[in-house]
Amino acid sequence: MEPWNKRFLQSFLLPGGAILLGAFLLLGPGSINPSVYGVKFFYFAVFIAALLLSWRFHTTRILLAAIVLLLANRALEFFAQGRIVPSGPGRVAFEAIALLLPLNFILLTFFPERGYQGRSLFWFLALLFFESVFVAAIARPDQPVLALLHVSPVASIHSRVPQPALLFFALALIYLLIRLIRFQKPTIIGMFWSLIATWLALNAGGIGKVGSAYFGVAALILASSIVENSYALAYRDELTGLHSRRAYNDALLRLKPPYAVAAVDIDHFKSINDTYGHDIGDQVLRMVASKLTRVGGGGDPYRVGGEEFTILFPGRTGKEIVDTLELLRLNIESSTFRVRSGDERRKVQRPTDRRSKGKKAETPRLTPSSAVSLSVTVSIGIGESQPKLSSDEIINQADKALYRAKRSGRNRIETGVPEKKILGFGRKKPKDT
Ligand code: GH3
Ligand code: MG
Ligand code: MG
Repeated sequence: MEPWNKRFLQSFLLPGGAILLGAFLLLGPGSINPSVYGVKFFYFAVFIAALLLSWRFHTTRILLAAIVLLLANRALEFFAQGRIVPSGPGRVAFEAIALLLPLNFILLTFFPERGYQGRSLFWFLALLFFESVFVAAIARPDQPVLALLHVSPVASIHSRVPQPALLFFALALIYLLIRLIRFQKPTIIGMFWSLIATWLALNAGGIGKVGSAYFGVAALILASSIVENSYALAYRDELTGLHSRRAYNDALLRLKPPYAVAAVDIDHFKSINDTYGHDIGDQVLRMVASKLTRVGGGGDPYRVGGEEFTILFPGRTGKEIVDTLELLRLNIESSTFRVRSGDERRKVQRPTDRRSKGKKAETPRLTPSSAVSLSVTVSIGIGESQPKLSSDEIINQADKALYRAKRSGRNRIETGVPEKKILGFGRKKPKDT
């Protein structure tokens, strides 16, 4: 899927990035001075919310991340004894915790997003216990200070967070960024912003009003990522990443004329499934979905059924979206889909098309080479808002147009109103090359 499309940017920046920006404006230099009690209330409220939500939604990763933050802040408060210390045990604990925090965040990404995995949960909690013992051991007053924790090889960097820890923070953030671009999971996005908030917390000393407030912000971002994750599960189609049927039903309620809709259906998808198997069918669905995501003209695609999609074009007429859809159709038609012949279930298969009255259907043809290129096509039906017609009737119009496109040979576009039929788009094409 396109990494930096509008939808991704939105879920990347909202709500985590926005919360952090708001916190920075409130807590940063020259901003308002929150009261100690206000910060305390906020801190405990968000940590309790983050722990309860992650427990309730079985988000082990976030539950453990919140525990890591809470432990870190409590330990810092304990060793620092209420003041930010330049040296001594409090400083050693600060340096060790600053180093361990990003490492723990990296480790947590290996946990599954949902569900409890007893054994790994046990090992992570055991690790946290050993980390606590380690910090307590090196932060004893009689212990020599570990020079490794605060070496400063780059003289020009002046930071309260020691340079080894800074390096670990940078590495963890780069790693999370790569993962979130690749998998686009709300909990990883939450961990990314939460780790930046944690760095800001340490930069403010890790304790006291501002340090604790930033730790609270880090927990708030984690909690918000759980909500975001639940929303994504309900409103996003898991296979393709497109908006789901539920989101589509919601969008229809909000849709105001003028608007246009396009019903898109993959041609002969059943035979792709039958020939290559369900997994390849799923990959084809993802590939088509990624093309739909990039449709122009302000179109918003939804997966409304198995291999059926609807694109809503608010503020557009049917005529205005024809060129956009023709580009989309051509784009899908011209992209070749590589399939290994090992995935092939049957060789050449020629089912008859029930809907086109016994005419031979265009079926994927496979060559016995080691890899084959499967070409996929779609048929599209257009509907547009009209006075006195409900959105259901307009969708029906688009569905009827789609049906006509199928009957006229597939891989083409038809409009909902027969007399306005748009001809010349699409052409018959062998399904395979
Ligand atoms: P037409 O050209 O007329 O649209 O024919 P078709 O074969 O594409 O349409 P049909 O409705 O007969 O088949 C749709 C198939 O889509 C049947 C079903 O097994 C498959 N399907 C539905 N959901 C999924 C899915 O999530 N993954 C995969 N791999 N297949 C799916
Ligand atoms: Mg189909
Ligand atoms: Mg269908």
